[in-house]
Amino acid sequence: MNTSKAINKVAVIGAGIAGLSCARELQSQGILVDVFEKSRGPSGRMSTRRSDDWSADHGAQYFTARDPRFIQEVKSWIQAGIARIWKPKIKVYEAKAWRESSSQEIRYVGTPNMNSIGKHLTEKLSIQYGVTISKLDRRADQWHLQSNEIGEITASYDFVVLAIPAPQASALVKDLDTRAFDITHSAHMKACWTMMANFPNQTPSDFDAAFINQEIISWICQNGSKPMRQGATWTIHGSPTWSQDNVELSKEEAQGQMLQCLTSLGFNCQDAETSMHRWRYASGGLENSIGFLSLPDIGLGLCGDWLNGGRVEGAWLSGLELAVALKEM
Ligand SMILES: Cc1cc2nc3c(=O)[nH]c(=O)nc-3n(C[C@H](O)[C@H](O)[C@H](O)COP(=O)(O)OP(=O)(O)OC[C@H]3O[C@@H](n4cnc5c(N)ncnc54)[C@H](O)[C@@H]3O)c2cc1C
Repeated sequence: MNTSKAINKVAVIGAGIAGLSCARELQSQGILVDVFEKSRGPSGRMSTRRSDDWSADHGAQYFTARDPRFIQEVKSWIQAGIARIWKPKIKVYEAKAWRESSSQEIRYVGTPNMNSIGKHLTEKLSIQYGVTISKLDRRADQWHLQSNEIGEITASYDFVVLAIPAPQASALVKDLDTRAFDITHSAHMKACWTMMANFPNQTPSDFDAAFINQEIISWICQNGSKPMRQGATWTIHGSPTWSQDNVELSKEEAQGQMLQCLTSLGFNCQDAETSMHRWRYASGGLENSIGFLSLPDIGLGLCGDWLNGGRVEGAWLSGLELAVALKEM
């Protein structure tokens, strides 16, 4: 066991907000960092879906900031022009009735899209996209990585950070370390069915977004109500319970049930143009947050929303705190 070995080179798996915040902090400490991301771009669950005619944030809808370090970071994003405050008119649908929301929460969004933040955070980082890390091997105090797409990664690393949802981290650490496996295995993440839709026959509604309670849908939002967006595309999220219970439905079946629910809420869904997305690991995590996990004896760290209360702020802080802990090792 060697906990005092210098860390010169780190691989960060996952370019969501947690991985990016961790990678940036490590790089600012003079550590060489390579980020590997399975998708074609950064941002993870803070993503934006595009088609020829429309675009819409289809993961995180907005974020809040309470911790002074995150408030400071968000200020820097606003100054850089990649985030703004969003002041939606919000309603609540509950017990089959609509009411105004009394929430005074300050809500922020990326501009012009939610994924603008991830793109901004990748500046000056070395990132390989379209690389799914499938296996980690530790030999002679060095990590060697395997990927589905390009096989063995040529570089080796002193430390590996897994900044990916718990079930995906679980698969990677299963045969490596029981402490890491037990933590990932005890996290409970739920799915989310998301529908993006244009309703050509819907009359304009008197709200920008709504929390829906006790229905299979939990949130609807007009993307164009957010700063620097246009168009009339709605993002509609299935509730965590319904989405998880129905995660294996076909897209057509899930869409049918969500449209039926929207109709019962008063939407005119005739001729609706829709696009569906299934988030397998959308929300949830550890029952009791631990912030991040660092295992210096084997050079492994875990960060992400699921270790730190969920949500964008928790994910960003988790990545930062893991990187700071490595400096202090
Ligand atoms: C539908 C939905 C709505 C939400 N709404 C809100 C909201 O309104 N407000 C809020 O604060 N939060 C919201 N959230 C939660 C918020 O999006 C997350 O908390 C946050 O984005 C998580 O960031 P992360 O970096 O921990 O994980 P992720 O964003 O999931 O990043 C992990 C990254 O790792 C990559 N990856 C996974 N496995 C591998 C592998 N083996 N190799 C390489 N790359 C890999 C993934 O592609 C992904 O890019 C929402 C999430 C969803 C899905």
